[in-house]
Amino acid sequence: MAPVLADPALSAVLDAIEAGDRRGFLVGGAVRNALIGRAVDDVDIATDARPRDVMRLARDAGLKPVPTGIDHGTITVVADGRGFEVTTFRRDVDTDGRRAVVAFSDDLAEDARRRDFTMNALYADRAGRVIDPVGGLPDLMDGRLRFVGDPQARIREDYLRILRFFRFLAWYGRKADPRAVAACAALKDGLARIAPERIGAEMRKLLAAPDPSDAVRLMADTGVLAQILPGAQADTLPALIAAEGGRPPAWPRRLACLRAPDAAQALRLSREEARVQDALAGALSAGWSLNEAGYRLGRDLATDHALIRTASGHDLPEGWADRLAHAAQARLPIAAKDLIPDLQGHQIGRGLKAAEAMWIAGDFAVPAPALIDAALLAGKAAP
Ligand code: ATP
Ligand code: MG
Repeated sequence: MAPVLADPALSAVLDAIEAGDRRGFLVGGAVRNALIGRAVDDVDIATDARPRDVMRLARDAGLKPVPTGIDHGTITVVADGRGFEVTTFRRDVDTDGRRAVVAFSDDLAEDARRRDFTMNALYADRAGRVIDPVGGLPDLMDGRLRFVGDPQARIREDYLRILRFFRFLAWYGRKADPRAVAACAALKDGLARIAPERIGAEMRKLLAAPDPSDAVRLMADTGVLAQILPGAQADTLPALIAAEGGRPPAWPRRLACLRAPDAAQALRLSREEARVQDALAGALSAGWSLNEAGYRLGRDLATDHALIRTASGHDLPEGWADRLAHAAQARLPIAAKDLIPDLQGHQIGRGLKAAEAMWIAGDFAVPAPALIDAALLAGKAAP
């Protein structure tokens, strides 16, 4: 915990809370990650101070409070240009499978009981002492992902927790609690009630784990994968991860490997994200060569394409990465103006297409006059 706690901006926020005779604790991902030596992105704070008091105490300390989620208890306190989410202890008073109506609480243990997994319900005080009301520490150390309380009951409160289960399993789990897996399988239909945007956000994070293949396999076995991504296939993902070598994990490549026909819609991908998936799916189903993929997709996407193809059994030749790089920077050395006036209208497009095919097949070394001849011939041929 020490490096996280040494942050002066965090200290300033905790000082502000303590000046009001309240306590602030680090909670959730920051504590979990610090304890296992993983990177900590942002630090969330849980407190017994009420939101209005957090606003006042932050202001009194010369910090900037922003009421980002004041109704559910969250104030973002800005210190040294960085935001810390400070959330009042809560308990659920009502849940509908999607979101909860909460009441504020003075009790840290009550706050822990509404969190999803035991390893996400760890708190630390500013001296680095860990407070573990639900037994999350041994679970974290053993890589055991376990719901706080009864898995079925917790999923019925919020069906998104099914996907959070697989996401955290991919990142932090070595063992999946069998009761939790059974509960996910039994209640998967409830995911239909969750907004596709939220499903998409979870899946992006899940697929960005260093090796999500066991989690995705389990999603397939429980029927959860088919529920959210109809037609997705998990079987070639382990081979893709192996083929990736040391490349940084990238969810779009992993998603394309699942070959789900309507992923863009199911996960509400952005226009650009959908374009990438379409390009990869098109190239995969056409079975493009290295040359064609490099030339048409550019180096990065063509690399993804090559890796996904090898995962389904197409071996990559020696020097493939260099060949892709070469193909990606190749430019057809002729243009429409070279074919006019011999060709006109549709003939020009037909001619250029033929020249391009010859250029690609000839390893981008065919001289321009030969390409022009081929274009003229193809352009004049009957369609
Ligand atoms: P990450 O590093 O991915 O952000 P995190 O643990 O911070 O991991 P968040 O999704 O940011 O995950 O949530 C913060 C904390 O809030 C979690 O650790 C968990 O305690 C709690 N939490 C978030 N979403 C839920 C949920 N749907 N149900 C119950 N508790 C949740
Ligand atoms: Mg977080």
